[in-house]
Amino acid sequence: MSTDFPPELNHPTFRLAVAQFDQAARHMNLDPGLLERLKTPQRSLCVSVPVRMDNGQVQIFRGYRVHHDLARGPTKGGIRYHPEVNLGEVAALAMWMTWKTALTGLPFGGAKGGVAVNPSLLSPGELERLTRRYIAEIFPLLGPDKDIPAPDIGTNQQVMAWVMDTYSQQVGFSVRGVVTGKPISIGGSLGREEATGRGVVDVTLEVLRHFRLPISDTTVVIQGFGNVGSHTARILYQEGGKILAISDQLGGLYNQNGLDIPGILSHLAAGSAPIPSLTKFGEPISNEDLLMLPCHVLIPAAVAEQVTVKNASRLQCQYIVEAANGPTSLEADTILKERGILVVPDILANAGGVIVSYFEWVQDAQRFSWKESDIHTRLKNIITAAFHRILNHAKEKKQTMRTAALIAGIEEVAQAHECRGLYP
Ligand code: NAD
Repeated sequence: MSTDFPPELNHPTFRLAVAQFDQAARHMNLDPGLLERLKTPQRSLCVSVPVRMDNGQVQIFRGYRVHHDLARGPTKGGIRYHPEVNLGEVAALAMWMTWKTALTGLPFGGAKGGVAVNPSLLSPGELERLTRRYIAEIFPLLGPDKDIPAPDIGTNQQVMAWVMDTYSQQVGFSVRGVVTGKPISIGGSLGREEATGRGVVDVTLEVLRHFRLPISDTTVVIQGFGNVGSHTARILYQEGGKILAISDQLGGLYNQNGLDIPGILSHLAAGSAPIPSLTKFGEPISNEDLLMLPCHVLIPAAVAEQVTVKNASRLQCQYIVEAANGPTSLEADTILKERGILVVPDILANAGGVIVSYFEWVQDAQRFSWKESDIHTRLKNIITAAFHRILNHAKEKKQTMRTAALIAGIEEVAQAHECRGLYP
């Protein structure tokens, strides 16, 4: 693996992103200067976020915003609140956003942000003060034509509403287009909340169609039941798929006859409970064992590096659709390829979120709202076209879909750099 990057970025997820980039770049004829340039972010901002806690004391949190590449347009990427957030992880996620927006033809560069915090330990007031101060600190980077955040792990519509309000208070007027994934009443888009999950389902259905497997005969295992995992499960269930297992960070729930996903969702809507405690729907299972269940489709929808050299040779699925960012290690990729397990890579499979974020940004600029059915159709058109383009390229060149997707994204970015030239 490549190690020629600044030590502050040295984190497993960043090493994974750079190693994937190197692997794809070997099949390309990139200018050596550009190749080096694309391995590290164009800009990284580290901020200290002081928050007055409910007990009156001030606690300092570390925050980050990284712009990986600006060549194709304003940057776009989520904000993550998680205790393990650090600069290297944020930089990796920003790099993946660059390839994701490029391969789906969206006019954005890649960004990501985050704060090292466990949001579930904060009161609503503390969470709001943390968000507002974090946004005030990274304010110089943000703007509807500069950098547009969105939700990611640990953040949601309410957090995005505070982002929009804080930015708008700083400039003195309402700026809807500065953030996506916000509530409808302040310029959010219909269909945005479920967009990543819907895109994952669109792609999964294309995989099944390609391999002539009817959805009614398909078994699915999903790791992670937050925004992405729960909408993926709900829509796949509606489509007729059998969801054998789901999980959160405390563990999973398994039912060999298929889980009652609507029942679980209404149970959760009535009050939060850990997934493994919902034993009236199935039996508890650990996250490690869940990954090993026999199924047609495995959908990691939680955190990075879940499929690794430790378990890749024992997985019993036929297809992996990566809803999470970076769930598969480089070594595991090789094992999966040898075993003939098709992996639809994250930068393609979970692009539904940023595609509908783009629609939200366009609607904000147009001062015009689209119908939900239009959102679904346009999302499906973009993501399934990208899926078939990448699948065909992969088959033609005998590459993995990850390599083909990275090449498609990197090529777009390289072309933008080439025609813009090097300033000054
Ligand atoms: P979320 O915070 O809503 O949900 C995360 C889920 O993962 C929760 O169920 C949590 O309990 C579970 N989890 C956390 N740590 C875990 C662990 N170690 N093992 C098993 N489960 C664990 O986050 P989300 O928005 O659903 O994001 C999930 C993944 O999808 C992330 O990798 C994120 O980067 C990616 N993603 C999200 C979006 C989006 O629009 N929200 C878009 C693209 C990609």
